[in-house]
Amino acid sequence: MGMVRVMGREDELHVQIGTRARRLPTWLVSAAHVRTVVVNGREQRVPFANHHARQIGATTTACGMLAVNWVNFYSSAFEPGEPGACGRCATALGSLSSAATQSPAPG
Ligand SMILES: [Zn+2]
Repeated sequence: MGMVRVMGREDELHVQIGTRARRLPTWLVSAAHVRTVVVNGREQRVPFANHHARQIGATTTACGMLAVNWVNFYSSAFEPGEPGACGRCATALGSLSSAATQSPAPG
């Protein structure tokens, strides 16, 4: 089936239908509010306004917001810089990845 792209009205909103890989992304797209769009005659929920990065099972987003009742998009990996992507989540993920690649300071 491949990738289906949906263009939102107010944003460039990219929705992936169907995952290429079975593995879930480390950082999912998570949103407090969702809206419904129709793709190929089927209703799909997509993030409304901003979305955040969240790990599976986590109660908070990467930027520290409580996200217990939020909707997770398991087929969507959080991509910093995407329209609607939370800048603080992007910063948090960026500092995590740079910390992981930096060797510890000699002590
Ligand atoms: Zn965030």
